[in-house]
Amino acid sequence: MPAMEPNLETRVDVVVVGAGLSGLAAARAVVASGRTVRVLEANDRVGGRTHSRTLGEGVFDLGGQWLGPDQPRMLRLCRSLGVELFATYHQGTKLAWDGQRLLRSPGTIPRLPPHALLDLHFGVKRLDAVTARVRRGAVRTDPWHRALDARSLADWLNENLRTRGAREVVVPALRVVFGADPEEVSALYAFQYAQAGGGFMKLIEVEGGAQQWRFVRGAQAVSLAMAEALGARVRLNAPVRRVRVNDAGVEVECADERVRASQVIMAIPPPLYAGIDFEPALPVARSQLAQRMPMGGTVKAHVLYERPFWRDAGLSGEAVCTRGPVAVTFDNTSHDGAQPALLAFIVGESARRWSTRPADARRGEVLDVLRALFGDEAGRPTQYLEQDWSTQRWSLGCPTANLPPGSMFVCGDALDSPRLGRLHFAGTETASVWPGYMEGAVEAGERAAEACLSAQ
Ligand code: FAD
Repeated sequence: MPAMEPNLETRVDVVVVGAGLSGLAAARAVVASGRTVRVLEANDRVGGRTHSRTLGEGVFDLGGQWLGPDQPRMLRLCRSLGVELFATYHQGTKLAWDGQRLLRSPGTIPRLPPHALLDLHFGVKRLDAVTARVRRGAVRTDPWHRALDARSLADWLNENLRTRGAREVVVPALRVVFGADPEEVSALYAFQYAQAGGGFMKLIEVEGGAQQWRFVRGAQAVSLAMAEALGARVRLNAPVRRVRVNDAGVEVECADERVRASQVIMAIPPPLYAGIDFEPALPVARSQLAQRMPMGGTVKAHVLYERPFWRDAGLSGEAVCTRGPVAVTFDNTSHDGAQPALLAFIVGESARRWSTRPADARRGEVLDVLRALFGDEAGRPTQYLEQDWSTQRWSLGCPTANLPPGSMFVCGDALDSPRLGRLHFAGTETASVWPGYMEGAVEAGERAAEACLSAQ
């Protein structure tokens, strides 16, 4: 059957594909400069990997939910849009569980035997040293960078953290950072990612790190407010299928609309480029990026309770687990305390295996872990909701896409050069600061908008 021709023709200065934080931040910047913009969004909502829902007496984030003090663009956006934040609850004892033993500690680091603590101390120093040493773009010319890219993050950790105790502190936290097992991620990619966020500890920590604040009305509030201000310029349920670029301009098509513009900003995750027909075809490095940069696999399980019994027992709700499907847990109680809740992350290979099980078995496995950590009351929630991002058609996973071993060499360049004439690539994966995070999404969107405006 011949493809349907779009029956609606629109003409603007800039067309943006994707109404996540990146696309909306880009569109906002274009409008602020007095130019016209059209945003085409595939889904029936804005916000992409941020999605907030009311559960029980609170608003909870199925996607991104934390901000840190070193994320100025998001903080500025929140201030200007009137989006309120509150401090993440993390007071009290933290837990570490290996399927048998429960270790307790007052800080992020569990009480380990002295030799494991020492190993952890020096291992973290080596992590920081390599993080400081990596240079963007050096993989093609420098053998040390190329060798680091050829190895997985797991190879590096196994070599530099020699005790099981030290590895069991670091690995679950990193699995949640990437939504992937360290075996799946290029060591060079992981170090560059950490460098762009200020170091591994910044990625992991609550106080002073990327988990310091949460959103009173959920993180999607930022996108909803930007979309409201953009009004009819944003179109939902409009998956872009075709992008044509020539000397005269660009043409971007969804099923029934063709937008003609001078520039186009693609604010979608790299694996989703593959579903779009680009004319001319994408250069090989960017096409390789679409083929080689899979999304992380993260499930968030929200478990609601009548009362925050773990707080009463002096526990912070934070735990790292090295057995069972859950990698880490957090206290996720609503800002006003009205809806007590725990949050469990299931990631990487555990998520892939766990997600094939029936719903009752999945719930049962999560509650078993929570019972082992927090006692019997954890097995009696008032509500349970899981969100498996790998099943989301327009995200395919989360929190970010990652480059596997060897891939920085093949297509890392494409991440560092987000512009191809009239075609601009945004989205958090292309950010130079905090890639993978909301901050990176905004930085990439604003950077792409600036490039469009200076080109017009
Ligand atoms: P997206 O949000 O993915 O937006 C892309 C948009 O493009 C989507 O709306 C999609 O529907 C649309 N789209 C895709 N294909 C097409 C097409 N063909 N045509 C039109 N539209 C299309 N970040 C933090 O900072 N802190 C956190 O605590 C945090 N935790 C996270 C936890 C989870 C479970 C998840 C899912 C993410 C988390 N993140 C976190 C990451 C953060 O949410 C993302 O980095 C950020 O939201 C990405 O924004 P984006 O605009 O780059 O991409």
